[in-house]
Amino acid sequence: MAIGLFRDGVQPGRLEPTRYADNFSDLHPPLDDHEALVEADRCYFCYDAPCMQACPTSIDIPMFIRQIATGNPLGSAKTIFDQNILGGMCARVCPTETLCEEACVRETAEGKPVQIGRLQRYATDEAMQQNKQFYQRAPGTGRKIAVVGAGPAGLAAAHRLAVKGHDVTIFEARPKSGGLNEYGIAAYKSTDNFAQAEVDYVTSVGGIEIKHGVALGSDVHLSQLAADFDAVFLGMGLGGVNALHADGEHADGVLDAVDFIAEIRQAQDLSTLPIGRRVVVIGGGMTAIDVAVQSKLLGAEDVTICYRRGQEDMNASEFEQDLATAKGVVIRHWLQPKRVLSEAGKVTGIELEYTTMVDGRLVGTGEKLELPADQVFKAIGQKFDASGLNGSGTALLLEQGRIKVDEEGRTSMSKVWAGGDCVVDAREDLTVSAVAAGRDAAESIHRSLTSNGRA
Ligand SMILES: Cc1cc2nc3c(=O)[nH]c(=O)nc-3n(C[C@H](O)[C@H](O)[C@H](O)COP(=O)(O)OP(=O)(O)OC[C@H]3O[C@@H](n4cnc5c(N)ncnc54)[C@H](O)[C@@H]3O)c2cc1C
Ligand code: SF4
Repeated sequence: MAIGLFRDGVQPGRLEPTRYADNFSDLHPPLDDHEALVEADRCYFCYDAPCMQACPTSIDIPMFIRQIATGNPLGSAKTIFDQNILGGMCARVCPTETLCEEACVRETAEGKPVQIGRLQRYATDEAMQQNKQFYQRAPGTGRKIAVVGAGPAGLAAAHRLAVKGHDVTIFEARPKSGGLNEYGIAAYKSTDNFAQAEVDYVTSVGGIEIKHGVALGSDVHLSQLAADFDAVFLGMGLGGVNALHADGEHADGVLDAVDFIAEIRQAQDLSTLPIGRRVVVIGGGMTAIDVAVQSKLLGAEDVTICYRRGQEDMNASEFEQDLATAKGVVIRHWLQPKRVLSEAGKVTGIELEYTTMVDGRLVGTGEKLELPADQVFKAIGQKFDASGLNGSGTALLLEQGRIKVDEEGRTSMSKVWAGGDCVVDAREDLTVSAVAAGRDAAESIHRSLTSNGRA
């Protein structure tokens, strides 16, 4: 037995080697041709298409479904990509149950929406498998644009700008592109290295150079980019993590959920990842669900999510909550962390306090509860790390800790746009919203660099 592997109930290889592939297989397997035709036939092709209005990228959903129904999946893919070039990933990760499928009239009428997400995947997979390229770059404009961050926002912006004939350089701090598509999305939502296949598909339009391992704030500076390029788009996401505000949170075994999920996504062999026997997750959003479910799938015996408010307040959708409970995760409400319990610096449990609402405010009741734990995951939200903006002085205004932009994505700094999770936006922090923001900022940049939108 290797020393260190089996300490404190945290160990790798809890499962039979063959179970990992099964556990982390595709959450929503693809539809075959027949299934896609049958599902497409369920669509009423509503003239006012409430599904389309609920889509942050405004994909013409009845149109792409009609194209599938008439045996034209490539035409369907083009309809999707025209609005959302990362339509393949969004088909896998969008919480459709709170977006297009919630709005679908068949959901309202019979509680069974058209499976828009799976149909979208059917069409986009077909186009990507055939490497069918729909876009040709416009003649070169001679304009150079810097994009910071190769996540969904940055990639969507880069693609739209490249199609319009501009030359794009993406500066990405990490060794791989994709942002949270590569490092954050749950492994069972994006299988078979799909995130990298999509980056290759998007960038094969040409005119996009990606420089990996180059971080804004240390390797390049905003003032320098603004001087060297005709425009800059910031799509940096949220690099910082909120603190737990519980005593002892620096104990060994208290981990940031997003870091752990990144480890899962990058692991060559999941059986080598150490996981606790008893895991407690603090949070109530998608990240909390994802880390809890994946802990269970790695072989943890008891996984408990503790959330400080009620079920209806959780950011994770009902579908996500059901997914977690179906996998054996226990979700407990009205509990907030007070103290991490540890022995010799290693976590052994967590003390929580019951909470309640008084005059519209969340307060602790004073009643305590202890849960034993070998690992505690913090999934209490991320925050924007503004340190990368140094060098820009006060020229770039922040609001609520994120970059302030106008309705077109323009920041307070001349020549600089921003979009995706790093900005203050009414839109939710979702992959599809980041794509919409990148695409729309690219249109705004193009308009400002050209006369009436024409180069
Ligand atoms: C664990 C987790 C699970 C999620 N699951 C879902 C889901 O199932 N469905 C869904 O719709 N949404 C999900 N989301 C939200 C979604 O992933 C984000 O909203 C989306 O990725 C935001 O895209 P972005 O391009 O703004 O930022 P990001 O995806 O974070 O990309 C930002 C990029 O910028 C780079 N960068 C940062 N700072 C610098 C710098 N100084 N210099 C250079 N590069 C830099 C980063 O390395 C990264 O590649 C999840 C989020 C998390 C954390
Ligand atoms: S709301 Fe449903 S039935 Fe109507 S167009 Fe959209 S997917 Fe089709």
